Amino acid sequence: MTKPPPQCVHCGQDWVRRYRRKDCGQVFFMCPECESLWLDEADVHDGTDLYLSEFLLTGDSAADWAAIEPCAGPTP
Ligand SMILES: [Zn+2]
Repeated sequence: MTKPPPQCVHCGQDWVRRYRRKDCGQVFFMCPECESLWLDEADVHDGTDLYLSEFLLTGDSAADWAAIEPCAGPTP
């Protein structure tokens, strides 16, 4: 039985999913609704101070989303 993904502790509107940076392949965890981001899956049940824009620093929301892709794998 697969464990459901954890609900975002910030907005409660979506589930935290696994993503990957296209440039370096780094895997991270993010809520697609509010763009809260966690680098360690062990931390997704706690709050985070990191957001997608601060993580990628492209300065452009569309560029941020173009730089990442959903990544298959076990849920956090
Ligand atoms: Zn959220």
